[in-house]
Amino acid sequence: MQRTSKSKPNLNKLSNKCPTTGKIRLRDKIEAIDILHTRLNKRQRDLDVKGSTKANEVRAYKCTHCRGWHLTSLETWSDNPSIASVKTSSSASSF
Ligand SMILES: [Zn+2]
Repeated sequence: MQRTSKSKPNLNKLSNKCPTTGKIRLRDKIEAIDILHTRLNKRQRDLDVKGSTKANEVRAYKCTHCRGWHLTSLETWSDNPSIASVKTSSSASSF
């Protein structure tokens, strides 16, 4: 009978990296959010204590290259610039 005593995933223990971005690859959204919360806590703690932080990750996103999840410091994601060209045409076309 085996005992599984898994602790929370640690960023330093994960050696699985994305070949494209070089970022640490997270297994799924749940793990990504879990670690993101850890980073946000550290970020807030650092800001309170030191006034600055290196934990800048604010978002988790799914990587299309490795199909894993990564954390990013970018609050907005603009890989689809054509979205700005979407217009609602109000011209009623009647036959
Ligand atoms: Zn990736």
